[in-house]
Amino acid sequence: RDSKSVALVVGVTGIVGNSFAEILPLADTPGGPWKVYGVARGKRPNWNEDNPVEYIQCDISDRNQTQSKLSLLTDVTHIFYVTWASRETESENCKINGLMFRNVLEAVILNAHNLRHICLQTGTKHYVGPFQFFGKIEAHDPPFTEDLPRLEFPNFYYTLEDILFQEVSKKEGLTWSVHRPDNIFGFSPHSLMSIVWNCYAIASDGDLIAEHEIWACVDPSAKNEAFNIHNGDVFKWKHLWKVLGEQFGLEEYGFVETEKRISLAETMKEKGAVWEEIVRENQLLPTKLEEVGAWWFVDLIFGGEASIPSMNKSKEHGFLGFRNSKKSFISWIEKMKASKVLDVTKFLDEHPAGGE
Ligand code: NAD
Repeated sequence: RDSKSVALVVGVTGIVGNSFAEILPLADTPGGPWKVYGVARGKRPNWNEDNPVEYIQCDISDRNQTQSKLSLLTDVTHIFYVTWASRETESENCKINGLMFRNVLEAVILNAHNLRHICLQTGTKHYVGPFQFFGKIEAHDPPFTEDLPRLEFPNFYYTLEDILFQEVSKKEGLTWSVHRPDNIFGFSPHSLMSIVWNCYAIASDGDLIAEHEIWACVDPSAKNEAFNIHNGDVFKWKHLWKVLGEQFGLEEYGFVETEKRISLAETMKEKGAVWEEIVRENQLLPTKLEEVGAWWFVDLIFGGEASIPSMNKSKEHGFLGFRNSKKSFISWIEKMKASKVLDVTKFLDEHPAGGE
């Protein structure tokens, strides 16, 4: 079929990239029909193979490789930038993430003559500062609105925005949008989250973020603007903990709460062999425990109360999408089970005490 729009999804095997790979090729996706190129660093994983996407293996931190592979994509009309690299310090993050983004834009902007729009995905850390400074700097007072001034600390999201503004100005008519999700519920065998928690929390569904970015590509009122994006409701982790248990037929779960904070990074350190057994007994795709659970991230995210960004600007500009976070949580667990990335039911039949 003739494509009206041609997407370049950078980070196509990631938590939102995977949603793009599924949603863009659908017949009723706004702005379509879409042809989709998908870039990721590694070989194409088998759980991504069914999506009608032209997969390009490319390490975008390598300038020459990015030039030689992405400059050939002369028909690209829209870029969805949904990737990042993580380093020890924020100044290193600024350097590596800036390099990656610039490499992509330099390879595509001048060669793709019909390029119309670039969606850049960043996040709520725009308002609270990077991981390195969590709890150490005075963040903005929530709810966060998109017009708040930048914090006086290095932040790779600011670096990416500055590069975006600079590069877009090189081509007349080229527009941009910045999308700032909160913690994401989605599908990627490389990131999972689960924890108990008593305060209100929010999440951003991976498919909803993809819909938000596609909306920004087709709606003139979304051009050249930054938008927060989350499900639009609140939940408590302690309730989702129950929901998580139910998905695996688990009636007894949780732990005795004490004053002492529990570190999942510490707790899960010794559990690699248990995960191997779970994978074997449930015939899952082979993964290592540290690949399916970013425990350091979970510890960090749940180290403080959630700061809630405002969704008013998106609504005022015409995006009314939302998700029920509980249903979103369940749907992603079901997807992980169906894709053989996650399941413990057989293991629990064999080890009713949970493998302890
Ligand atoms: P991700 O970590 O789920 O996926 C990253 C993707 O980029 C993968 O496909 C990976 O293969 C690819 N990639 C990584 N390095 C690459 C390289 N050098 N060359 C080519 N491909 C490479 O991505 P994500 O979590 O959606 O992150 C995208 C943005 O969203 C980041 O700025 C992140 O900070 C932000 N964000 C994420 C979350 C979350 O909960 N995951 C929440 C808020 C904001």
